[in-house]
Amino acid sequence: MSQDSVHEKCAVFGTFGTGEEAARTTFYGLWALQHRGQESSGIVSTDGTLFHKHSAPGLVASVYREEDLELLDGTITVGHNRYSTSGSADGAHSQPVLHKQASLAFAHNGNLPSTEKLEAFLSARGVACDKLNDSEMMSESIACRMLDGQSIEDAIVANYPLFTGAFACIAMTTDKLVAFRDSYGVRPLTIGKLGDGYVVSSETCALDTVGAEFVRDVKPGEVIVIDADGLHSYQAMPGTLKLDIFEFVYFARPDSIIEGRSVNKVRENMGKELAIECKIDADIVVPVPDSAIPAALGYSQMSGIPFEMALIKNRYIHRTFIRPTAKLREQDLKMKLNPMPHILRGKRVILIDDSIVRGTTTRKIAGMLYEAGAKEVHILISSPPVKYPDFYGIDLPAQKDLIAHNMTPKQIGKHLGVDSLNYLSYNGMIRSTGMPSSDFSTACFNGIYPIDIGKRKDGITRAVPEVTTPLELANV
Ligand code: AMP
Repeated sequence: MSQDSVHEKCAVFGTFGTGEEAARTTFYGLWALQHRGQESSGIVSTDGTLFHKHSAPGLVASVYREEDLELLDGTITVGHNRYSTSGSADGAHSQPVLHKQASLAFAHNGNLPSTEKLEAFLSARGVACDKLNDSEMMSESIACRMLDGQSIEDAIVANYPLFTGAFACIAMTTDKLVAFRDSYGVRPLTIGKLGDGYVVSSETCALDTVGAEFVRDVKPGEVIVIDADGLHSYQAMPGTLKLDIFEFVYFARPDSIIEGRSVNKVRENMGKELAIECKIDADIVVPVPDSAIPAALGYSQMSGIPFEMALIKNRYIHRTFIRPTAKLREQDLKMKLNPMPHILRGKRVILIDDSIVRGTTTRKIAGMLYEAGAKEVHILISSPPVKYPDFYGIDLPAQKDLIAHNMTPKQIGKHLGVDSLNYLSYNGMIRSTGMPSSDFSTACFNGIYPIDIGKRKDGITRAVPEVTTPLELANV
């Protein structure tokens, strides 16, 4: 399958020995991780002999009925929420991938930008790869070795050199739950204790939801096996942390803790750093809800400019497999956000958002604010310009569609039709995390890809739009 058509950002959750109702625990875990994938959801369980699977397109709340959960018998479970732009909302490539012959279920968050080594391995084993995506190839390669008689952990460890990319995975057999993370730890993966057993989750917010106690993050390059004897750790490859900084910027839920840092606190710091770097005469600070709320609070606290929730988000608009009609799609944003004129009228507004990708949404939101009576609109973005595509599992468009690849911040500001536009500097973003820059993959901001992206290198242009003003210079 063409890897170019698949850009996945996903959630994984699993249980071992947490008692009865394990599928229900995973259901709640997946619900808490809904923000990581809204296209489809699936759970596989085992009663120790048989596997049971339920998956369907749509949001977690609509995918599972009571009777579906009742059929997911057993105490070992693996769950997955999938978001994909490949358009296959028909259940094709649904996860967890179930390999009945090898007694293996497998769920993947991340993306492998290069599958050459995997394809060579599978072809040598007589497995056709043309209809498989990266996750299915990973699962097939593990199954191959298990069918040779290797244990699941040995099979996974042996295959690490074939997995060129970002992966935070949970796999299971009829008696083990296995969690493993690529050697750069690009995507988060965390372990919790629940009752006499364990849960594994993409983010800690889901541990809170199911009442699990945080144990620790899975380390980069580590394979964790949980079985009747407890938790065992294997280091498949030496690990060097290169967490995708976009998890802190936009992707993760604010109530999650990643690498010991509160996502909410980091975002608030980003707003404070912005207030130090970009001082603007304005009357109110307004966030684009929900992701920019902490940054706007931080900006308001540091600058003393009052915070106002002048844009209200309709909480019941979600991306689902049911697309709105063409007419409604045009109105998409109006269905989602509504400005309040009584707050905005005659005001000089600072609008804070976490990122600009294509610029289309931001332009519409700015227009809404002027229409609602704002006298001035100054946009502040709590991260640097996104100039490079992502190949590690976050859904960003091709480079040609990234507005900051094509225009300088000043030109973007003009295009958006606003009074000014400024971004947080790269160093300001790093400072906000309290971690060293060497702990991060910042590929979408600087084009430095820590894991080989194979042939995808060819499509990337390094030309940076011309920089004209001192403020822009400070932001490069
Ligand atoms: P736009 O102006 O069309 O580039 O959209 C900017 C908005 O997209 C911001 O509010 C971001 O929070 C949001 N955003 C950033 N990255 C992503 C992503 N990978 N998927 C969906 N939305 C995103």
